[in-house]
Amino acid sequence: MAAIIDGKQISKDIKEELKKEVAELKAAGKNCALAVIQVGNDPASSVYVGNKKKACEYIGIESVAYELPEETTQEELLGIIDKLNNDPAIHGILCQLPLPKHINEDEVIQAISPKKDVDGFHPQNVGALVIGQQGFVSCTPAGIIQLLKRSNVEIAGKNCVVIGRSNIVGKPMSLLMLRENATVTICHSKTANLKEVCKQADILIVAIGKPQMIGADYVKEGAVVIDVGIHRDSENKLCGDVKYDEVFPIASAITPVPGGVGPMTIAMLMNNCVEAMKMYS
Ligand code: NDP
Repeated sequence: MAAIIDGKQISKDIKEELKKEVAELKAAGKNCALAVIQVGNDPASSVYVGNKKKACEYIGIESVAYELPEETTQEELLGIIDKLNNDPAIHGILCQLPLPKHINEDEVIQAISPKKDVDGFHPQNVGALVIGQQGFVSCTPAGIIQLLKRSNVEIAGKNCVVIGRSNIVGKPMSLLMLRENATVTICHSKTANLKEVCKQADILIVAIGKPQMIGADYVKEGAVVIDVGIHRDSENKLCGDVKYDEVFPIASAITPVPGGVGPMTIAMLMNNCVEAMKMYS
């Protein structure tokens, strides 16, 4: 039977640590501020943005909201980013994705100063991760490293299989596990014998984006299983990419959905904001 890796509690611990640190910085006259840009009013984005603002408020980070209409042009958005890049009172810039179709996301990501890129999406920060230099790391994979470390899961020397190679989860996740000295295999939709490959994993990280695809037949007895997926099942209940009930009895540790990886993303965003302020202001 698996130990449950409690992302809710671990994210709470991180937020408490950050709250204390931000209060100390404030007492020394240093304020931390995050600019949160949303273009249009996609309901899911509004929920994410709202949660990020709430987390800022809890920790003591000032959040400066830019709620822009759907018709905002790319030039207007780039103009705002340029202004924020040059504003010393702003330490982090977050532009909620997805953006409306008429705006080129890559250009927007590249316009954000790497020093304020608290999402860790800028090519300079991605490159820094590849060559082992300091930089901001995408929040979900960074949160998974915290989940593993704070649950005392040994990473060095272990076989880690990551299913998924997206720019925001799979690729940075694989690089972070490599940095932690795991032996890493990356799987994707063209991987042959996915089951057999997954069964080699001591640590299996699933970011496949397919509801409950990974069952017990993909998992080695005693493996640690991290489920990044978030979906609604036929009863509208949240579920992950892993068949939790099937895998729970054979894994040594597992993240639930909800309450596993999900809460870590915002905690790491807050962490990146505080780091940005400490490093660059
Ligand atoms: P993407 O859809 O961008 O990537 C999915 C990856 O899985 C791709 O690399 C794809 O391969 C691979 N894949 C798809 N089908 C198969 C298959 N049958 N066999 C093997 N590999 C397959 O998703 P994301 O990385 O953005 O997100 C993954 C999941 O995590 C989603 O459920 C998302 O909602 C969730 N998520 C959760 C977050 C959180 O905070 N908890 C944050 C971000 C995402 P290929 O490259 O070949 O197409």
